[in-house]
Amino acid sequence: MNNPFENALSQLKRATALTSFDEKFLKRIGHPNRQIRVSIPVEMDDGRLNMFEGYRVQFNNARGPYKGGIRFHQDTDIEEVKALAFWMALKCAVVNIPMGGGKGGVTVNPKELSKGELERLSRGWMRAMADVVGPQKDVPAPDVNTTPQIMQWMSDEFGKITGDTSGAVITGKPLEAGGSEGRGTATAQGGFYVFEALRKRLGLPETCTVAIQGFGNAGQFAAKLWHEAGHKVVAVSDSQSAIRNSAGIDILALIEHKRSTRSVADFAGAETFTSDDVLYEPCDLLIPAALENQIHEGNADRIQAKAILELANGPITPEADDILHAKGTPVVPDILANAGGVTVSTFEWEQNLKGEHWGEEAVFERLKQIMEREAVLIADRAKELNTDLRRAAFVVALERIQEAMK
Ligand code: GLU
Repeated sequence: MNNPFENALSQLKRATALTSFDEKFLKRIGHPNRQIRVSIPVEMDDGRLNMFEGYRVQFNNARGPYKGGIRFHQDTDIEEVKALAFWMALKCAVVNIPMGGGKGGVTVNPKELSKGELERLSRGWMRAMADVVGPQKDVPAPDVNTTPQIMQWMSDEFGKITGDTSGAVITGKPLEAGGSEGRGTATAQGGFYVFEALRKRLGLPETCTVAIQGFGNAGQFAAKLWHEAGHKVVAVSDSQSAIRNSAGIDILALIEHKRSTRSVADFAGAETFTSDDVLYEPCDLLIPAALENQIHEGNADRIQAKAILELANGPITPEADDILHAKGTPVVPDILANAGGVTVSTFEWEQNLKGEHWGEEAVFERLKQIMEREAVLIADRAKELNTDLRRAAFVVALERIQEAMK
């Protein structure tokens, strides 16, 4: 099993070998400022008490309050949260928003909880963390398996405890609870702007065939966006199964199918196959939009896609990066490709602090400008340093964090 934090440190080492950084900064940046572990008691529907383990890692706040989502997953642990928090610090610097990096989580399979149990767990996480988060301290958000509804419960709980009802403590809330227009689709939308800005440099045709791993928030909206823009989505997976159709999948009908059956399997007109094999589909663009460590030393040579855009965090290990690089398969790294989510989160925070509500068009216009500008800047930097996009994105982010730490 790959330890995601070790992978993150290995990425750091590989990038910082390319250009000179201050020695003390390099020593410091590999360590989180603070790691918090809490026990969350939850009364279950049958009257029993269950204890859950919750986390918040506050990695670096030189550029602004810690920022990053909260993940509810059965395999989540402190090492994973630490890696995700580090990537958040870099990600916020890549898109140049005034935020640092943090991440949270709970070890739980939320699909096994009732709605009431999920609410009590969510409120319990916030109760345990209320001292360490806040609009100017640390601003959480959604991540894997956490929804706008969960953000609303947490925001409400924070308001009850502290009296701060601005909502600016947490982002990704429903619209009626202070959420921003466009936040739900922002991760995929940001990735799409990056794709459009870099498509030619990635050597991709005007109309691409696309395979997507994961059909959660990021994967579903990505499928919809690429499909609506005239590209052909030929394969999609969720955690249970995958489906393929070389003539293209009707994404709107698939979203409906997933909603009603909770699975992509057995979608009419497509062939159902093994979930993990979606990675090896022949296509122009592969979009991993699930979890970390999906493409590793053991399977990177089986990838047939011409380019990869990481909507998930950490889906490719450093060893796999090397194999893909040698094969000539460019990778648009997570800290650039999926930064649209945290960017619109930051717009939400800003709107809450100012008591404003921006229209969807204004949100996407601002998002587009940021994503295009930073994508081009990183691609230029990669060329100048004669390296891949991940190392270039790390260098750009680290320079910005180093500057702030001075
Ligand atoms: N969880 C998302 C990420 O990994 C969004 C974080 C946020 O909006 O703060 O980027």
